[in-house]
Parts: sequence; structure tokens; C-alpha cells
Amino acid sequence: MTENPAPERHWADRVADEVLARGTSQPVIATGISPSGVFHVGHLREILTGDAAARALRDRGAPARLVFVVDDVDPLRKVHRLLDESVYAPQLGRPLFTIPAPEGEGSYADYYLRPFLAALGRLHVDCEVVRAHQLYASGAMDDVAFTALEQQDRIAAILREVTGKEEVKEGWSPWNPLCTRCGRIDKGRVLAFDRARNEIRSRCEACGEESAQPAGGGGKLTWRVDWPARWKALGVSVEPFGKDHASRGGSYDSGERIAREVFGVEPPHPIVYEWIALKGQGDMSSSKGNVLAADELLHVAPPEVLRYVVLKNRPQRAIQFDPGAPFLRLVDEVDDASAAGVDSRALELSRAAGFTPVGVPFHHLVLVAQIARFDLDRTLALLGRGGYGPLDRAAVAERMAMARYWLDRFAPEEARVDVPDELPPAAAALDAPQRAFLGRLADALPALGSADAIQDAIRDLANQEGGPGAKRGFEAVYAALIGRARGPRAGSFIAILGPERVAERFRRAASA
Ligand SMILES: [Zn+2]
Repeated sequence: MTENPAPERHWADRVADEVLARGTSQPVIATGISPSGVFHVGHLREILTGDAAARALRDRGAPARLVFVVDDVDPLRKVHRLLDESVYAPQLGRPLFTIPAPEGEGSYADYYLRPFLAALGRLHVDCEVVRAHQLYASGAMDDVAFTALEQQDRIAAILREVTGKEEVKEGWSPWNPLCTRCGRIDKGRVLAFDRARNEIRSRCEACGEESAQPAGGGGKLTWRVDWPARWKALGVSVEPFGKDHASRGGSYDSGERIAREVFGVEPPHPIVYEWIALKGQGDMSSSKGNVLAADELLHVAPPEVLRYVVLKNRPQRAIQFDPGAPFLRLVDEVDDASAAGVDSRALELSRAAGFTPVGVPFHHLVLVAQIARFDLDRTLALLGRGGYGPLDRAAVAERMAMARYWLDRFAPEEARVDVPDELPPAAAALDAPQRAFLGRLADALPALGSADAIQDAIRDLANQEGGPGAKRGFEAVYAALIGRARGPRAGSFIAILGPERVAERFRRAASA
């Protein structure tokens, strides 16, 4: 007897080890995303990575808080291709929270954030949503803002050293004032500041307006300074971020030094994560338009599945997300803890309290629901006949809706089945050995008890002397059933359709 090697400690548990080893008693995990366009599955990785660390910490009894900072003071930097150029070109340089939504109520930031927050709710992500404009307006950033202004020469020197570029020019300031007249936040120049009076004087290079405003609401720190300033203001102990920020000379490198040398705090434990690519379409990016919106994925995936995708892969590993056939296997792994290849700790962290598996593999339900033409009672009856049951009616109905969405949007052709009442025209093209084989199969079917037995019988009969061979035998089966050369696993398919009914159809095909 061989013993299984001890499984490698899960990455989220290792993050928890590191954070607790620092003596942090109330860990704060921060994430931040700019609401500049559609929130996609790549953005979900950021939040779900933070959520995984929070769950691992809570598992150890630490009262971990997950904070999602919405960077809505960021300026609109470009007009993406789905927007009306004439409406949005004049908005360039203005903060996202002040720009009108492409449609409906609220701001541009609200418009893109709303479906994402709904998705986080469905994912049971327990996080505090902090809008950057409210964070500034609350005064929570006042102290760090004035510290940055007071130490701007030191910060400029750090940025020059870290980036190795002379990008920090004469007159540079860590503060981006918000113009009270034209509303731009990217064209201001700081003239003077006074911490005691909480006042920053500035001039707008775009419209010439001069104004004196408080730090809260009067602008924001520039990104490379804003990030470490936030670590101090929010007491951040862990932060997941994309690999672009982790590059040499990137914003984590400069943030680390600014945190220690200017704000006097230790930088958070970094979790650098890789991108999620959509199979065959490259890394997801809103500007490339190859995105799968986070909320759309929830139409086909139970929340546990999305969490599992992120937890199962180490953050440093790029994820190739394939919403086609491999997606069905993922759902099955989450439903069935004993399935091959399951990462049990990832599964444990993925399943919300009270999670109960539906009790029927998703790939099987996809097939049965199609044969039952999405009628819930017929689906349940067919599942019951196949030995699945008793099942929770509402849970099956929910999965059926997901199956339908998946079939419409992501399924490969062979997963779609529509069994016509009449013999498909393709059956007329079968040759003599194929017809004879279908005839023999029709005689054998009524005595075969299981999907496996049917599958074996097809192969054996097709390979008999004078038979068409396995490949052409299976093609004959699919041609007679659905008029195509390929389809779902034939044994299961016939077992669900009912061997008697299929035998009758094969006889007709054999004599046609
Ligand atoms: Zn202006």
C-alpha cells in the first residue's frame, strides 16, 4: 500500500501564514479597480483572489476585512469604441464619478460598477465597497495628501530612482487638483498648500481657472502616490494586484519605498496575479472587446465554480478560461468532491456555507434538459429513470436555466442536440454495412441495461466481421438520431432517449 504524499499547502493558506506571522491582528485586504469600462472576468480574479485570502484568514480566526476601492476619481483617459464620441470626447480628463452614464441613472462609474456589484453579491463576496471620491471627501486622505505635498521632493527623488526615468519633471506635484470650472483633474498645477487651513491652491492649465480647495473633494493624489497613501489611510495588510503593477520599476516598487520612507508604514503583503485569457481570444481587455462580462458568466456558472477557478490556480498562473466543453467539467468538479483532479482545499474555500450539490452532473443535465425540451417535469422524470433522485426541484430548475444559457452562448456544436421526430435526411446516405449494423443494434438494445453496456455494444457490433467499424458505426448512430456525424456520448444519449424508442428508429433507418 502506498501513502499519498501530503498535499501542498494551498496558496491562500500560505498568504494567511505570512500575514499572521507579521503579527497583524486585524488584517485588511485591499483591492482596487478603475470603473473605466465593462468589469470582466479578469477583474473578478482581483476580487476573488482577495476574497480567498480573507476566507483563509477567517478560517484561522482572524477578523479579516476585504475592502474594494472603486477608483472613480480617475479621469476618463479614452473614449472606448462603444461610446458616443461626440458625447464623451468633451469628458476626457474629468473624474469618472462626475461623468454621465451612457444610459440610465447615475454616473459613468455607477453604470459599469452596478452589474459588477450585483455579481459580487451573487458570489457571496463579503467586502466593503469604498468609492475613492467618498474616501477623499470624508477627509480620510487629508493627512496623507499633505504629507505627500510636504515631501514631494523626496517622493520625486524616489520615483526617479525607481523608474530610472526623468519622467518627474520640474514643477511636478503628487497632487492632481480638480478644476472647479472645467471639471478636469488631469491639467491642474499646484501653486501652494497650507495643511493648517486644509487648503490647496492650484491653477488649471486647460481653462486658466485658479482656486483654493480642501484636500477632500478638491482632487486626488497621483496613482503612484495614491496607492501607498491608501495603504496607510486604510491600514492595508494584503493586496492582490495584476502583474503590470509588479514589473521592475513599476508602481509596487515605488509604492514600497514611498510607504516606508514617506508614510512610515510597511507595504502590504503582495499577491501578484496573472491575467485570465478567454480561450482562443487572448488576454481579456475592455479595449480589445474580447471580454466576458463578470455578470454574464453568472448566467452559466454557479458562484462556487468561479471561485473555484481562481482558487484552484495559483495567482501567478495565467488562466485560460474556456467556457465551452471544459467549463462543464469544472462545474462537475465543484459539484462532486470525489471527482478526479479535484483540489479539495480550493473546493472547501469555494463553497459557501450551506452549499449542497445538485446531485446530477451538469454535462448530463445539459443533455437531458435538451431531450426533455426544457420541460422541468420531463427533465426530472428522465433523470429519475436514470437513477438520479430524489432531486431538489428548484435547484434543478436553476441549473436548467444555466444549461440553456450555456447552450445558446458557449456550447460547442456537438453538445447541442435536437432529436427530430422523423428520421433525419442524413440517414438516407448510410451505406449497406451501416444499415445492417443499425439493424443488429436495434435487436440488441432492449436487453441492455446501462449507458456503458450500450456504449460497449455499439463498439462490439460495429467491429464485427462485415460491420462498418467503430468510427463509421458511431457516425451511423448519430446520423439516425440527430442527422450529424458527431454528438454526445452515444451510450448515455440512447439510455436517456429510451432504448426501445431508439431501437424502433434504428429499424426504420436500417430498412430505409
Ligand atoms: Zn479648468
